Amino acid sequence: MDDDSSGVSERAGHGTRPSGDRTDWLSAVPFLASHLAPLAALFVTVTWKDWVLCGVLYAVRLFFITAGYHRYFSHRSFKTGRVPQFLLAVGGASAVQKGPLWWAGHHRIHHRFTDIDGDVHSPREGFWWSHVGWILSTRYKATDDSSIRDFLVYPELRLVDRLWWVAPVALAAACLAWGGWGGLFIGFFLSTVLLWHGTFTVNSLAHVVGRRRYATPDTSRNSLPIALLTGGEGWHNNHHYLPSSARQGFTWWEVDPTFYALRGLAVVRVVRDLKRPPPHLLGRARVRDGAFDIGMFRSYWERAAQVTGHALADLTRLQPPTGRDPRGTGGAHDGEDMSEPSAMLAALIRRAMESADQLARATRLTRETIEGAVARDDTLAESTGS
Ligand SMILES: [Zn+2]
Ligand SMILES: [Zn+2]
Repeated sequence: MDDDSSGVSERAGHGTRPSGDRTDWLSAVPFLASHLAPLAALFVTVTWKDWVLCGVLYAVRLFFITAGYHRYFSHRSFKTGRVPQFLLAVGGASAVQKGPLWWAGHHRIHHRFTDIDGDVHSPREGFWWSHVGWILSTRYKATDDSSIRDFLVYPELRLVDRLWWVAPVALAAACLAWGGWGGLFIGFFLSTVLLWHGTFTVNSLAHVVGRRRYATPDTSRNSLPIALLTGGEGWHNNHHYLPSSARQGFTWWEVDPTFYALRGLAVVRVVRDLKRPPPHLLGRARVRDGAFDIGMFRSYWERAAQVTGHALADLTRLQPPTGRDPRGTGGAHDGEDMSEPSAMLAALIRRAMESADQLARATRLTRETIEGAVARDDTLAESTGS
């Protein structure tokens, strides 16, 4: 488990969001330029081979992100040897989403603090922040060593994490050599940009659109369109319910191509011990069965409190309490400056939010206990050769 003994200076935001967030232009300029690069294809010869290359590079690198960066490095949902582990790292790096330790470390923080203070990309802070803002911010530039200690012990992974850009530069050069400018602009750049937004959609929209099957302490959803776009990562509510499961589509119709590919690799023994969702947990904590949906409760309460806070601010502006400075009101959070009923209501809202936070943390602990039990129970980590 993570602790606060890390020597990393640029720690990921545990606690409230600091105010001094800046855009890291060193990353943002190439990021924006890459979005324009496919347009350059209008001025060069593009053949059908370049479009095929684009599709292949999207699918293959998507697998390295979903199976490698996400299900392996972030969640250890299966086992593999040291060489395949290295290949998963290099393949993931080729997708231009930084290094495996950076990616997985921040993703683990997302799971520990989902939709509460400390979450690296909660849609609570707006769509664009959860989609791309957090990646381009100076706050999350560095790898959070403390949350990825288990993989830090491999020097080859630390090397890939530090020199992650080598893989995509080599791939871009190979695309140029193989397919010319069309291969570079359509094969490499277009697939890279599409893959970025496919991956980012899981962070942004998968906490906003779709349905909730399980009452998790967050706002994660299950969405077929996102699953189709992302090789099975759209079953995000399932995933937040049982993060260590290598399989994220829990039913036959919840398509999960990443898991099918992992099963294939297990048959030829490249990977092993794929963790599956334990049958006795699949029927638990379902919203349909009346489980208390703490994640949505918190979300609705928070929104209501914001609206109430604005209304209170307006109210106090309209009806300044006698003997106090009407301009001193700063909304529900400045209780001292408001009239007494407003201050009481503001305090009530704060208390309710604190209780909701406590309840969310308690539910989270329950989940971690169940997850721990899953991880310990060998019968649940089936070998997929069977
Ligand atoms: Zn999530
Ligand atoms: Zn995850």
